[in-house]
Amino acid sequence: MHAVDVIAAKRDGEELPAETLLEFVLAYTRDDVADYQMAAFLMAGYLNGFSRAEAVALTAAMVASGDELDLSRLSGPTVDKHSTGGVGDGTTLVVAPLAAELGMQVVKLSGRGLGHTGGTLDKLDAIPGMRTELSGEELIAQVEAIGLAVCAQTADLVPADKAMYALRDVTATVDDIALIASSIMSKKLAGGAGAILLDVKTGSGAFMKELDDSRELAELCVALGEDNGRASGALITDMSQPLADAVGNASEISEAIEVLRGERTGRFADVCIALAGHMAALTGLAAGGEEGIELARDALASGAALERFRRFVEAQGGDPRIVDDPSLLPQAPVCLEVRAGRDGWLAAVDAEAIGRAAAGVGAGRQRKEDAIDLAVGIDFVAEIGDEPGADGLVARVLANDDAAAEAAGRELLGALTWAEAPVEPPPLIHAVIGTRT
Ligand code: URA
Repeated sequence: MHAVDVIAAKRDGEELPAETLLEFVLAYTRDDVADYQMAAFLMAGYLNGFSRAEAVALTAAMVASGDELDLSRLSGPTVDKHSTGGVGDGTTLVVAPLAAELGMQVVKLSGRGLGHTGGTLDKLDAIPGMRTELSGEELIAQVEAIGLAVCAQTADLVPADKAMYALRDVTATVDDIALIASSIMSKKLAGGAGAILLDVKTGSGAFMKELDDSRELAELCVALGEDNGRASGALITDMSQPLADAVGNASEISEAIEVLRGERTGRFADVCIALAGHMAALTGLAAGGEEGIELARDALASGAALERFRRFVEAQGGDPRIVDDPSLLPQAPVCLEVRAGRDGWLAAVDAEAIGRAAAGVGAGRQRKEDAIDLAVGIDFVAEIGDEPGADGLVARVLANDDAAAEAAGRELLGALTWAEAPVEPPPLIHAVIGTRT
């Protein structure tokens, strides 16, 4: 295989055979193909498109570039979930203990936030003492003991994706559906879980802003999972506004604890219940999504999932007292209340702009190497369809100083569209994909 021939074939719109893609990706992982050659290949593919067969082959090639977790020692039905990324999207914090409570073994490999989206590992860092780097042995022992672990993916899993994603990020080739699906599913397949549920976001705060694109991505991910013998399904969930009120690391942990305590209902809690319910259906613990949702609702109401969360925090070295006293989490010194400043109904929210405003006060990163401030963020309390009135509260900015809080307040008000007449809230779940959900 000559790298130049592979690039030329893709440039000329040819469909590449699986063996060629495997060789090319493995050669890249060994450094026998240079970064600039992989970048040219990715751009050629981005412009000409990848076929379904090529997406299957790319996924397999990326899995083959590293190790796979062997979960065969685990006794229960194993499951993983993945969100395509959003704003105020800390569902794992609730879903993982809830799913464990329903009898699943949750092996959740998570990532860090980038740009306007948050990452579960950053949120967990807000819990004093919490470790998110677990060895394969520790991960398996913890899942067997308490039913869940949420940790970083080890470096030897899918190294090709790590390198290719870093290239895509700086060569404007991220948002290709086949590349995204193969990137996501290679990591999930290498993670070893028997069932995989995707939470594909759609709307202004998602990478996929259009429902048709989200559906195409969800269908391809589910097909890649099923082709590899994993029970796979997807929910397409709404990201046309932040999902939870909290957009920030410590505050998202607090809000998740309130949901687990049964003190907070609403859109965030409902998506968590739906995800856990559909995971129960995928793993055969419920006859279907509806039955799974009922089971999840009961487990949440009983307080059992909260206790499971406490054991999870303790198992990974975190301070379990945060469960009873979230004021032990990092706290921002400034809290600025932001009011609507006009009458009308909230008609639309640029959720990506809210995520950027939260990152602007320090809750997220602009570049991978940036440090983040775990205490700061935005509590976005308004929802599409609300009529808060000119003096009504739309958000609280949690910041380190007044100037940063005021700048974020102005930015977030600029992200809102108002209407003169009542507005219908958007649906929370746009579609359910996969025959086993
Ligand atoms: N998330 C991933 O894991 N990969 C992509 O390519 C895009 C989003």
